[in-house]
Order: sequence, then structure tokens, then C-alpha cells
Amino acid sequence: MVAEAEARGLRIVFLGPPNSGKGTQAALLAEALGVPAISTGEMLRAAVAAGSALGARVKDVMARGELVSDELMAEVVRQRLSQDDVAGGCILDGYPRTVAQARTLEEILGPRGIDHVILVEAPEEVLIARALGRGREDDREEVVRERLRVYRDKTAPLEAYYEDRGLLRRIDGARSIDEVQAAIESVLGVRRVG
Ligand code: AMP
Repeated sequence: MVAEAEARGLRIVFLGPPNSGKGTQAALLAEALGVPAISTGEMLRAAVAAGSALGARVKDVMARGELVSDELMAEVVRQRLSQDDVAGGCILDGYPRTVAQARTLEEILGPRGIDHVILVEAPEEVLIARALGRGREDDREEVVRERLRVYRDKTAPLEAYYEDRGLLRRIDGARSIDEVQAAIESVLGVRRVG
């Protein structure tokens, strides 16, 4: 199995609530491993900014902090994962976000397609404080809370889903960026040279 994973490069999913730091950590790990970081949130934000047809379809849903439909996300991810640069492995950040999406991902990659799922966790008060920073705009706080609610309802079930499959690696995200990065690299056995 290790040989198989090495031959096609590691495929790692990042899971965690909004503001857990998973996006930052996904990007850092992708750089360390030399594989692309595929962030569905970033792809969708780019589509909105570009004013594309996809952007027009997701703009309002994103602004409310809700999830884009599983069907539309399946199209986006299937297309992205068919590109050549993922042959040597990849980091997925923000996908899957529902159990239905996890099943779609297995369909795309095959049942042994994922090597690790890194869950970056932090207490809710830490997540909210990070999201709001120093400012306090009420409607922003509303969206922040909605995104957390959506995580609990739709995405948190994936923690048990991947735990059952022996893939879940829990990381305490309520620490500095450097400490979290070191913890992730240690769990994965990534060795730094130089
Ligand atoms: P993120 O940057 O990962 O927090 O994503 C920002 C927003 O994009 C989310 O709040 C959703 O509206 C949308 N989004 C990103 N990834 C997904 C996904 N896998 N499924 C559904 N919606 C998504």
C-alpha cells in the first residue's frame, strides 16, 4: 500500500471548521511536499471574481455561508482532478464537505484514493475570535456563525466517516501556525532536509 501511495504521490484531505487554519496548513504542506493544493473555496472565489458562469451560480450561496450543491461541486472537482498536475499527489482543502461528496471523491479516485485525512480542530470560541478579529460587524458575525452551523450539520459527520476508515489524523489547531505545521509533518512522517 505504501508503495502504491508513493507511486502516485500522497493524496491528503484537510478537514476542519472555518478559521481552524486548515487552508493555511494545506498550502504549507503542499509546498513542503511539492504537490498542488486544491482549495475548492479559492476556486469558487476566483470564479466569482472572474464573473464566470460558475461564479454567477455560486455567488449568493457563498455570501450566505451555505454550501454549494453536491452536484455542482462534483463537476468542479472531477474536472480539476483530471488535470495532469495531480498525478504526483495533491492536497484537497475544502472538499469533501458532505458525506455525499466523500462518496463522489471515492468514485473519482477509487476506494483507496485517499492516504490521510488531517482534521484541524479548535474550540468554537477560538474559531469565532479568529473570524471576527478585532472588529465587530453583526452581519459578519451572523455569517461566521452560519458557516460554523453548516460545518457541524453537514461536514462534521465526515470525521466519523474517515475515522471508521482509519484515515483520520487529529491535529490541535489552537496553536501557532509553526506549531500546527510541525505537528502535521510529524504525524505524516514528513522529514525536512536542510
Ligand atoms: P472555504 O474557503 O473552503 O471556506 O469555502 C468558501 C465557501 O465556498 C463555502 O462557505 C461554500 O459556500 C463554498 N464551498 C467551498 N467548498 C465547498 C464544497 N466542497 N461544497 C460546497 N460548498 C463549498
